[in-house]
Amino acid sequence: MAISLRAYCPGCKKMVTALPMLDDSELKPALDKNVDVKVMHIAPGGDHVWSLKDREKENLRKTVAKRSA
Ligand SMILES: [Zn+2]
Repeated sequence: MAISLRAYCPGCKKMVTALPMLDDSELKPALDKNVDVKVMHIAPGGDHVWSLKDREKENLRKTVAKRSA
């Protein structure tokens, strides 16, 4: 099951439910290394894709850790 998260979309200028553009298996290593994590959501005019802020990555890291526990 894919992880979704609440994140601020710069395109919509509001909080949305976003999906990481990485497989579950790639997500944890990416967060551990603190590399860029891109997320997307489907907007009426087309998909929005952007990178998470540090704080959002931190929240996502906790979610992933909880899931794999
Ligand atoms: Zn958006």
